[in-house]
Amino acid sequence: MFEKLKNLKTYEAGKPIELVVREYGIKPGEIIKLASNENPYGPSPKVIEKVKKNAHLMHRYPDDSFYELKEKLAKIHGVDKKNIIIGAGSDQVIEFAVHAISPKKVLTAGITFAMYEIYSKQVGAEILKTPSAKHSLNEFYEIYKKEKPEIIFLCVPNNPLGECIDAKDVFDFIEKIDEETLILIDGAYQEFASYKDKSKEIKTKDILKYKNVIYTGTFSKAYGLGGMRVGYGISNEYIISNLHKLRPPFNITILSQIAASEALEDSEWVDMGIENNFKEMQKYIDFAKKKGFEYIESYTNFIVIYIPESTKIANKLLKKGIIVRDMASYGFDALRITIGKPEENDKVLKTLREIS
Ligand SMILES: *Cc1c(COP(=O)(O)O)cnc(C)c1O
Repeated sequence: MFEKLKNLKTYEAGKPIELVVREYGIKPGEIIKLASNENPYGPSPKVIEKVKKNAHLMHRYPDDSFYELKEKLAKIHGVDKKNIIIGAGSDQVIEFAVHAISPKKVLTAGITFAMYEIYSKQVGAEILKTPSAKHSLNEFYEIYKKEKPEIIFLCVPNNPLGECIDAKDVFDFIEKIDEETLILIDGAYQEFASYKDKSKEIKTKDILKYKNVIYTGTFSKAYGLGGMRVGYGISNEYIISNLHKLRPPFNITILSQIAASEALEDSEWVDMGIENNFKEMQKYIDFAKKKGFEYIESYTNFIVIYIPESTKIANKLLKKGIIVRDMASYGFDALRITIGKPEENDKVLKTLREIS
């Protein structure tokens, strides 16, 4: 019955706090969760206030046109409302894109966001990966020429590694790909990348020039709304109107809409988080250098540090209530650590100095 799903693994989300509470008996308040690239500062206090004020509306179905949210997003991105689709996380937009096309072949980087593969396998597609773990657009092009995949995923910057290809290289690459292949640019960490280095900034408006390109963005990372599940896709009207055929009605909640909409009003809060992110990331870089550990230069809110026996280290951290992502399942010893609040990072680094 489930022949198509035979080779499919269930997505392994970062360990939830509750699990560590149960398994190790650590108090929830003492747990440091740096495994899912969430915003450690949470959403803007204005967002919390607004959601509280509107909690009484939860018996109502949300506005299925997403009028206010789309209006604000359109303004920020310099596009029209017709160029936007809202998803329950950008994950859902990725799902719409894959299911709409039902590709035979998709092409991704060697190591990248797991959901591309999962959604693709759901429709029985073959997954082609570049030999390099990080994005190498030359390798993408070589495989594209030979295999003609129907979807190419570019994660800019890339999760779980943190590297980021230049925006110019992305657009040069798009020019070389014919219109039969959809290129999905996943910009989940674009706010971080473009803050650190302007040459990484994908101008979403420029996406609209192409028949076959879609950009996805999310409120889960820089905006601190992971638990509210709001993301979006930006593309030409033709692509967006087709993806809408797959969208279930009311796919995000009324409070999620209100939260996302309000989050766009407080750019200062978002900027504060991003600024602190890179300031705090430096502590991890200093640690790695001092220890002689290699790390991947990151354009995101996490950093990958190569640490010998990473599984052992990750487990030791877990027993102390610190949740990070072990990269051993990708075939190399490293930890992916989401950058937390200053006091969290200090504690993680203190522990790491002791055990690594
Ligand atoms: C977090 C993340 C997403 C989407 O997250 P949602 O919460 O579904 O919006 C998409 N792509 C990458 C690479 C991510 O890291």
